[in-house]
Amino acid sequence: MSKLVIVGTVAFDAIETPFGKTDKILGGAATYIGLSASQFNVDSAAVSVVGGDFPQEYLDLLTDRNVNIDGVEIVKDGKTFFWSGKYHNDMNSRDTLVTELNVLETFNPVVPVAYRDAEIVMLGNLHPLVQLGVLEQMTKKPKLTILDTMDFWMNIALDDLKKVISKIDVITINDEEARQLSGEYSLVNAAKKIHEMGPKYVVIKKGEHGALLFHNNDMFYAPALPLAEVFDPTGAGDTFAGGFAGYLAKSGNISFENMKNAVIYGSTLASFCVEKFGTERMLSLKPEEVKTRLQQFKELTQFDIELK
Ligand code: AMP
Repeated sequence: MSKLVIVGTVAFDAIETPFGKTDKILGGAATYIGLSASQFNVDSAAVSVVGGDFPQEYLDLLTDRNVNIDGVEIVKDGKTFFWSGKYHNDMNSRDTLVTELNVLETFNPVVPVAYRDAEIVMLGNLHPLVQLGVLEQMTKKPKLTILDTMDFWMNIALDDLKKVISKIDVITINDEEARQLSGEYSLVNAAKKIHEMGPKYVVIKKGEHGALLFHNNDMFYAPALPLAEVFDPTGAGDTFAGGFAGYLAKSGNISFENMKNAVIYGSTLASFCVEKFGTERMLSLKPEEVKTRLQQFKELTQFDIELK
């Protein structure tokens, strides 16, 4: 089993969907990634920052699931990162209403010494210079580095983002962001352009339409499980990334063939995340439920055509 370093926001989120509205609840990229990766019982550590307003019980939810939080700095007189979003009726698109960086503005990440030799590094959504700072602290070249980002950072820190993208192995990004980053509408062409920026593997997440994995001229597609009800898509992308990274950390095999399984795990875990508001579903998720859904996934895509 490999050690996993997880970088990303630990946040307060306020969410509005056609099904309801929440006040400030637990959120953040590192939170969703950590909860998702914890399904694999890997040795993981989160690197992030919160303010003095952040409840200890939220941090305990991570430690309870074996996510080490020595690298989560608490700025006593600071305010936690806050994000608020509103989903449209189709749930596939959302508007960001508020992004308050707060303690993120002056954050200098410190990777706990015991995790500086981690084999897998998951650079979740956060300022690209923080992502870069974490990479630079690794004392041994990681076996695999994965990066996730969003339009917010493309809009305000594109050069820094390109710098960190040039140093990583896998990028996970949603379809709109892939188009924005590459300037290409076709996702096949977008993946090609993004390959040229550095990453050997490009994963494009397409929400309810699944995910694509590209490696040179090879391509793999995993659908998303069609669900009768989607309550809140927040965190689905991070949950996907956490499942992808957690599975690879657990198996230790980073071949393209095995990455296909990682994409399936990512999609499976994301399908749970959207069933309830915020982190609620991920907090109650049991391994047996994951196994049953993986079986459903298999049945959804398996067919037997004879090719003559
Ligand atoms: P996702 O739905 O997977 O794209 O991620 C939603 C999570 O990302 C929320 O819990 C937010 O707290 C977090 N988030 C939103 N904006 C940012 C940002 N600019 N940087 C880092 N994390 C963010």
